Amino acid sequence: MPKAQETVLEIDLKALQHNFNHLKSKLKPHTKFLAVVKAYAYGNNPCEIAKYLESLKVDYFAVAYINEGLTLRAAGIVSPILVLHPQTVNFNLLVEHSLEPALYNTKILEEFIQFAEKEKLENYPIHLKFNTGLNRLGFSKEQIDVVASQVKDNPALEVKSIFSHLAASEDLNEKDFTIRQIEVFKSIAKNFKSTSGLSPWLHMCNTSGILNYPEAHFDMVRSGIGLYGFGNSEKENQFLKPIGTLKTVISQIHHIKKGESVGYNRGFKSESSITTATLPIGHADGIGRQYGKETGYVMIHGKKAPIIGNVCMDMIMVNVTKIACSEGDEVIVFGKNETAEQLAETAQTISYELITSVSQRIKRIFIR
Ligand SMILES: *Cc1c(COP(=O)(O)O)cnc(C)c1O
Repeated sequence: MPKAQETVLEIDLKALQHNFNHLKSKLKPHTKFLAVVKAYAYGNNPCEIAKYLESLKVDYFAVAYINEGLTLRAAGIVSPILVLHPQTVNFNLLVEHSLEPALYNTKILEEFIQFAEKEKLENYPIHLKFNTGLNRLGFSKEQIDVVASQVKDNPALEVKSIFSHLAASEDLNEKDFTIRQIEVFKSIAKNFKSTSGLSPWLHMCNTSGILNYPEAHFDMVRSGIGLYGFGNSEKENQFLKPIGTLKTVISQIHHIKKGESVGYNRGFKSESSITTATLPIGHADGIGRQYGKETGYVMIHGKKAPIIGNVCMDMIMVNVTKIACSEGDEVIVFGKNETAEQLAETAQTISYELITSVSQRIKRIFIR
């Protein structure tokens, strides 16, 4: 790769393929693979990522909202797309673009049934979400009978799957809780199948579920963060490769004297003479203010340069006193060695938040 001359997010599609193959190797041959490409494919560009994953024969995609599904369709994605959190106001767009809704309470189920009947849909694929302990979205197990009675023998609908979501699949201290969730889901599935006479697919696992709970893979798994290179544990991270490298450049170097300050509100006051570098990336690009005041750092020529003072909207200033560097030199914000997970940890957050925050004004470059 040529050295960065501006802020760019380089995305390594070979690493994506590696992660996909690694996660697939954990599954039984018949288990389907759903790739989660919500939130701009976790910051990476959903169209390019989905096109590439489609070429690798992924079975399904999921997005959070209908608009995200429309973006994929406009890019020519033809695979089935599950919309995890649709809103009733956009049902017409959902159906027009063959997006498949997750229905999670009686209000949205009834509204979708009304819509489907009015539009004279036939066997329209839907997915029913059950709550097994996350307490976020989903029917309760007490609602199985009423849900089953509404969907069975309804020619407008086809219940493609019933699914649930794990609350703490990455946290092995919560293993008992997770096993309980899996048991509750199994009993919901059994009950639903016998009351409705239908046999939808079952799915429950996100990335950490895939890695930690093979007994819960069922008919399909749903992976997001793992595809992008993070396994939510040091052990699993070894087998995955972060696909994104966020690079920038040194715009200007300053020599700061003892007693001078750097940045807005004089957020850094120098106790000795130091050298700083100003970089063209700021809180509007996803490097939040919580990374300032020497919390986060970037890498310059393999060395850590702490972010000093307050993060500005479009810039940060870093301390390069101990690093031989010049204006125009390349800077790594995160990548394969110093990862987004490690940088996120400095600010007590997680890789998910940092990578999904990379602003869309930053150019994405795909390495094939
Ligand atoms: C986001 C999401 C996933 C993907 O989770 P990862 O931890 O990124 O693998 C799976 N299922 C649902 C319902 C989600 O909302």
